Amino acid sequence: MSSANTKPKAKSSDPQKSFHAPKGMHDALPADQHYWERIETAAREIARSYHFARIDTPLLEDADLFKKTTGEESDVVAKEMYTMRTKGGDVLALRPEFTPGVARAYMEHNLSRLGQPQRLYSVGPVFRHDRPQLGRTRQFTQVNFEVMGGVNDAMYDAQIILIFATLLEELKIKNTALKVNSVGCKVCRPIYKKQLQNYYKNHEKELCADCARRLKTNPLRLLDCKNPQCQKFKEKAPNFLDKLCVTCSKSFKEILEYLDELQISYALDNQLVRGLDYYSRTVFELSAEGAGSEVGALLGGGRYDYLIEFLGGRLTPAVGGAAGIERLIAVMKAREIAPSVKAVRRVFVVHAGDSAKKKAIRLMKDLVGAGIPISESLAKDSLRAQLKSADKEGAHVALILGQKEIYESSVIIRDMRTGLQESVTLANVVEEIKKRWNHK
Ligand code: AMP
Repeated sequence: MSSANTKPKAKSSDPQKSFHAPKGMHDALPADQHYWERIETAAREIARSYHFARIDTPLLEDADLFKKTTGEESDVVAKEMYTMRTKGGDVLALRPEFTPGVARAYMEHNLSRLGQPQRLYSVGPVFRHDRPQLGRTRQFTQVNFEVMGGVNDAMYDAQIILIFATLLEELKIKNTALKVNSVGCKVCRPIYKKQLQNYYKNHEKELCADCARRLKTNPLRLLDCKNPQCQKFKEKAPNFLDKLCVTCSKSFKEILEYLDELQISYALDNQLVRGLDYYSRTVFELSAEGAGSEVGALLGGGRYDYLIEFLGGRLTPAVGGAAGIERLIAVMKAREIAPSVKAVRRVFVVHAGDSAKKKAIRLMKDLVGAGIPISESLAKDSLRAQLKSADKEGAHVALILGQKEIYESSVIIRDMRTGLQESVTLANVVEEIKKRWNHK
């Protein structure tokens, strides 16, 4: 983590002030970009294969949007949301997750009038003012998939899980554990909550402060409390899976059958409730086992049939989930999984003399225009120094422009491995390079 906090506070005008990324926020440096590219490409390709369209919503939304959906009682909203009052007096929040913004856009743009369900995916940063620790930062990046609208069908719950399982497979992340549970619906949840409250009331004095408060407001959360003093009560707590109404029970059974059909292994976990208010029926979470497991859950999600209703819309079946890219990268690194990204082949453009330098920049434009990526160190004057840079970069081909070449409208092609050189006309250089590349 940044050490900014431990340094004495300096005024902004202080010439000695040094800058760091804000606490809990990190730079994604060039050396790591191949991981990002691999994950984003895999997500994009899976989205295309399963017919999901990309949607990008603003980083800032009306803070009330999250209060109404994610829930005022949830940690994400109550403790972790970055909110601000704008100069115009609006209260906005940096999105702590994607789903409410996507649902808002679905309603605002009448996406319900298009073919249903809408299959939507997003990739981008989200913000939670949490205590930074291993696997937990204040800005992180989610890959988010949602199915909104249409028929309430358990097949979509399984398909969302399948999409994330496919993403992990593409990234070669094996040895993971998927947990699934159902948190019921408007019919069975209130009854279960009451039973849970009755059970926990007998232990009220022994609960942690958070649980004592949640007992009245959000008793389901008692099941996922991590505080050691609350653990012993969980074992005997009533199990929601035994109390589901007939419809929820049937739907849950169907999901499990789909997962069996897809050969996706899972474990039932009746303590998995996830912290957000809007979930109904299915909830799921997946973590790495073994190397990389210390970062926490890699992805999670569930069904949220009432969310659009919370926002004043019609009952709209919906299911979705999100994976955290930084945690996926952490697991890949812990397991030494090198992301396979195709290396870009480039030609290295070299000049000898000032007038050649002008032609060289023009040659680069023409090469790029013809689809040939380039590299250069044109600011170096000496030919030797430029060729040395080409070597260092591992370039296979250099194009050398000198006085003679300008005069003759030609260029020297140098094979950097053998040192063999050949002169070709500028008019033919693109074709010649493509020919050489095709032969290798
Ligand atoms: P959630 O929206 O809480 O279900 O989170 C979905 C996924 O986002 C998690 O499984 C993690 O991979 C990732 N994630 C959640 N919170 C954080 C965090 N504070 N720092 C890094 N990644 C996170």
